[in-house]
Amino acid sequence: MLFIFSAGGLKDVRHYLDNEQNETYLQALVYGELSYVLRNNAGELEKQEYVTEIQDRLGELWAGLLISRDGEITSVAPFLQQASPHEDWKQLLEEPPKAAAFNSFRYETSEMNLTYPDGGEGKAVLLRRIDTVPIYWRPVGTLFSLAFICLTSLLLTYFVSRSIIRPIKKLEAAALQIKDGDLTHKVVATTRGEIGQLSIAFEDMRVRLKHSIDQSLQYEENRKMLLSHISHDLKTPISAIKGYVEGIMDGIANTDEKRIRYMETIYRKASDMDQLIDELFLFSKLDLQTVAFDFKVIDMSRYMEHFLDEQRFDLEKSGVRLIYENSGMHPTMIAADPDKLSRVLTNILNNCIKYMGQQLEESRKEIHVRLKELDEHILVEIEDSGPGIEKEDLPYIFDRFYRAEQSRNSETGGSGLGLAIVKQIIEGHGGMVWAENAEKSGARFCMKLPKSMLVKAVDDHEEHTNH
Ligand code: ADP
Repeated sequence: MLFIFSAGGLKDVRHYLDNEQNETYLQALVYGELSYVLRNNAGELEKQEYVTEIQDRLGELWAGLLISRDGEITSVAPFLQQASPHEDWKQLLEEPPKAAAFNSFRYETSEMNLTYPDGGEGKAVLLRRIDTVPIYWRPVGTLFSLAFICLTSLLLTYFVSRSIIRPIKKLEAAALQIKDGDLTHKVVATTRGEIGQLSIAFEDMRVRLKHSIDQSLQYEENRKMLLSHISHDLKTPISAIKGYVEGIMDGIANTDEKRIRYMETIYRKASDMDQLIDELFLFSKLDLQTVAFDFKVIDMSRYMEHFLDEQRFDLEKSGVRLIYENSGMHPTMIAADPDKLSRVLTNILNNCIKYMGQQLEESRKEIHVRLKELDEHILVEIEDSGPGIEKEDLPYIFDRFYRAEQSRNSETGGSGLGLAIVKQIIEGHGGMVWAENAEKSGARFCMKLPKSMLVKAVDDHEEHTNH
């Protein structure tokens, strides 16, 4: 590759190879002729033109002749003169060494005694260059090769380390951190290819592991909270019941009227406890997802009308005006569990009545229920005219046991599970529930329930045929 690069292309390489082949052919020709002349026709060496010609031809083959007659030098090849201008050729001719070195090139020698046609004695020494490159090129070449190998290995090490070893070290460090329980450090894939994919898979694993650990910590926290809330919420009515029972036993309730009042309070407290335990039971079943949903395709408009008709009597008894608005024209079908949905609506309506009852005089107690049809969903809005919800409480009211401070101290405060149950049921339907404050005053609860896939398919078909 280097040769091609320095020689300047493939054409030159071919040229160089052709020359190489020609050279052996030329050598055979020249040396054959020379050997014949030296042995059988030494007279030719006395002709100046022939000597010049053969020296030139030898010169092309990196060789030259030294010729003598009767101890006197008659010809020195110009090629040799050039290679070593100050050489004592006579001395060399008399005692030719096996090998000589001129100008950083080594030469091999071969000598031959000859007899000229007139009987004169002569000698010819052929010096042929055996190196193609100067002697010092060997160590320089070796040094170059070594430097090249070192550089290549350094570069290779650098690239391998950058693309393989370093990311693997990072992964190792991350694995050790995970082993020590620290899951907060992100593993970033710095390379593509297999190592990059490994890093991505590793990061995926870390995220999932972290998620599942966080989740189990959250479960643990929830369990603790649940226990403490249950014990607190059960303790209060039980202490009260105990107090009233003691009052009866000790004769503090000494009149029939007092005894009846005590008994009524005990009954109310026991009913509260019963309700709390019911809610707890339902909530924990929903939370553990052990409660089955009995989905049916229902017409939401008709369902709401029916449900609100049932509620109207109770609402009016509490002095609440109910206003129902349905913006949908045709039946709005959804897949829902009617019993669970009725639980949701009851919880929300009861809350509305409960919190409106706190502050309002009867004439202003209103609940607006709206049913709206969206593209993929049905939206149910229930809005009261009560005090509304504090802004800072809004994100938490659907949390289990969350009770805004105002209700905690008052008589109205419930278990704090009502809206948590609502959320569980709506999410079980694949929907969403949220709360906001109405423009005027009061709280608004919104539920978005997905339309039944079956119904959507029928709708789409109808639309299609209409077109
Ligand atoms: P609770 O048993 O305390 O009513 P919920 O889960 O039903 O528990 O409600 C959580 C909190 O949300 C309540 O404590 C109350 O502060 C607030 N809230 C719920 N509904 C209303 C409403 N209609 N108006 C004002 N605040 C409400």
